Amino acid sequence: MTQWLTGQRDDPAERAHRVVAASLRAAYAWTVRRQRRDAMREVARMTGVVMEAHGPGNGPVTPLELVGCLRQRLGEMPALAASTDETIARAVLLDSDGDGDDRLTTDAYDLACEYALPLGEPPGSVPWMPTWTRMRADRIRGETFKALIESRNQASYVASRRFLIEHPAAALSELRRLISETGVSLPAGGYIDIPADHVHRSPGGERWWWPCAFCRWPMAVTGTTVRCRYVPHAAVYQLADGRTARSRPKLSRVDEGRPRRLATPVARPADDARCVDFGVWRFVVVPGASELRIMRELEDLGAAVELWPDLDRYDLHVRVGEREFRIDVKEYRSAHRLIADLRARTPAARVLLPATHEHQLGTLRTAMPSLQITTETKFLTEVRRARRAR
Ligand SMILES: [Zn+2]
Repeated sequence: MTQWLTGQRDDPAERAHRVVAASLRAAYAWTVRRQRRDAMREVARMTGVVMEAHGPGNGPVTPLELVGCLRQRLGEMPALAASTDETIARAVLLDSDGDGDDRLTTDAYDLACEYALPLGEPPGSVPWMPTWTRMRADRIRGETFKALIESRNQASYVASRRFLIEHPAAALSELRRLISETGVSLPAGGYIDIPADHVHRSPGGERWWWPCAFCRWPMAVTGTTVRCRYVPHAAVYQLADGRTARSRPKLSRVDEGRPRRLATPVARPADDARCVDFGVWRFVVVPGASELRIMRELEDLGAAVELWPDLDRYDLHVRVGEREFRIDVKEYRSAHRLIADLRARTPAARVLLPATHEHQLGTLRTAMPSLQITTETKFLTEVRRARRAR
């Protein structure tokens, strides 16, 4: 077993984390350099962070050299060459958009965002950089629900968080109706226009979006391929324009994944639609969709479930008769990031890996033998037994 998994948090691991965080920010800034005047300054600043992590005579030394590195596997950079996090070492952050420019890859959205860190910038200095490129996931969650957490109102905190997870995107009129019906208070950022790369423009000029079958956030549209930016939401679709220039485009599923019988999403008009931003989606909605799914499974077994007790001290309080269980659902693409975060902050409950992440169990047990850990499958069995024993 490698030193990283078993040993202390040494400097090379911290340096590698900074290099990935800086690479993600540089990659994002590079893709918006034509729209943002100070984007190249951010690429240059991140080049400084990468250079500092590498030390003299090692690694990229100019912004363009760094951009060149971002088009290759991150493991090609000396600071990450020895990284035992193979998924991140294999990741590429920039590829060609087909029109001679670079765009962010699936790896950037799906995996590298778990490495985002604040990197010494004065507060408010880069407001145009999205939260998911510069903040840790727990900070994004904290900022999103700041006012509700400060008001110490557990019921409205739960209602508001649940609302975002269940309605991460919808027509504006539908959102207005739901908000007035439920009376939830929405976070300051609220909802934004659907990003351009999550929208398809049909030959008649109409703009369309499709909700992911797992998380309901708009799927990314790349040419004629439509899929959720979160890779474990694995369904991939091919789009075909309707019979006439103005008719609704249709999707057909092209991947071999499961579940086979998944309802194919129907195109919705994008002009009047809104969604939560990428950071809120990735770090509130994506894990939240699993948390709510697991809650429903437990309730089906007859358990009483409370969400995010004590303003999110952990995720699920589960009661079956006299027995109580405290569960923290951990859904990380990178098992290495998960281990680092668990080492930095001991969880207040038993860690549960959702069904899509149960393969991380062995790695976690080896790295942290004393950690209380289970999987969705094992925990459901445990609750079923507890129910029968009543
Ligand atoms: Zn999804």
